[in-house]
Amino acid sequence: MGGSVRDLLLGKAPKDFDVATSATPEEVQDVFPRCRLIGRRFRLAHVRKAGHLIEVATFRGQATPGGDDDHELDNGRILRDNVFGSLEEDALRRDFTINALFLDPVSGEIRDYVGGYQDLADRSLRLIGDPEVRYREDPVRLLRAARFEAKLGVEPEEKTGAAIPKLAGLLKDVPPARLFEEVNKLFLTGHGMRSMEALQRFGLSQDLFPALPKGSGKGKVRIGILLRKTLENTDKRVRESLPVTPAFLFAALLWEPVRDRAGELEKSGESPYMAIMAASEEAIASQVKRTAIPRRYSAVTRQIWLMQARFGKTRGKRWKRLLYEQRFRAGYDFLLLRAEEDPELEPLCEFWTEAQKGVQLPRPGDRNRNRNDRRRPRKRRRA
Ligand code: ATP
Ligand code: MG
Repeated sequence: MGGSVRDLLLGKAPKDFDVATSATPEEVQDVFPRCRLIGRRFRLAHVRKAGHLIEVATFRGQATPGGDDDHELDNGRILRDNVFGSLEEDALRRDFTINALFLDPVSGEIRDYVGGYQDLADRSLRLIGDPEVRYREDPVRLLRAARFEAKLGVEPEEKTGAAIPKLAGLLKDVPPARLFEEVNKLFLTGHGMRSMEALQRFGLSQDLFPALPKGSGKGKVRIGILLRKTLENTDKRVRESLPVTPAFLFAALLWEPVRDRAGELEKSGESPYMAIMAASEEAIASQVKRTAIPRRYSAVTRQIWLMQARFGKTRGKRWKRLLYEQRFRAGYDFLLLRAEEDPELEPLCEFWTEAQKGVQLPRPGDRNRNRNDRRRPRKRRRA
């Protein structure tokens, strides 16, 4: 219920529906045999109905004193939260009051145990309970605060906001895979620029992207034109329902450290290509310690960067091959963004813009795209 009731009350279309129930995941499975039971830290049932994914969670309760297997704390951090309880108890262990509203499907009434309805009306974001304790329990809540501010236009109430910069360092202890998920939600769902502004204001960006150059102010990073433009373009693409990918996002996020490191390596005698290659490895290896980046994305991120070195080679015959590569388009778009920052790149952009004229570029989704496509066009299948 949480997020979906909140979104409905704000007049936004919820992207998914979360259901809370007194039934255990196993009992849910008895009713919906084709549902999937997922999660360890937090067990849930995923039910598919009419093309929608519905997350069904059993009411959670407080841990019994002395602790037990289903509720594990480590230094104030929740490792597992599977003690079942009542609806009211469940409301209390949600994160923000506006996320703790329940819509009773039978009576149609809203159940509000924490004052979330009023907070929503006031556009106020308030953690339930003592903010410091609740952030320590699960530091991802720090990022969720920034995300809800960006997404919903709510403003953290004083204590909820004040604790964030102080606790930013806790992000270090969150499993990188969870942070990757959160980065996607922050930056690839249509409010990426606003998310970045919120992260900056709360001093969270440095802990999320430790390789970025420090900005002015604690916990802030310096945000260059290329990154800003990328975030704005990404938001625009989401509005237009065009695909967006973490590969391009990370290429833009980490470009400055890659470019600077590659510059150093070139000075010490590396070729531009080898320099970018080495710098790419370093940047990705360091970022994945904080946020995972699944290989299918980081491989593309690397290709986008490597292409930047290859764009520089426009003499001879070999440059033409680049046009037929699978990631040419992404690399070229990236080059255009770089030129916004560095006007000296404009002639190179023009070269590659001209080079594409009269060339049949591979379409996304085409299989077996490689440089041989030029010589042996694939035969069209008859329908
Ligand atoms: P959205 O789906 O728009 O990203 P949401 O609020 O629905 O936002 P979900 O991650 O789908 O977020 O979680 C559903 C609900 O589960 C939340 O509304 C909240 O009540 C609860 N919840 C999610 N994550 C946490 C957390 N880290 N701590 C406490 N409660 C949480
Ligand atoms: Mg949700």
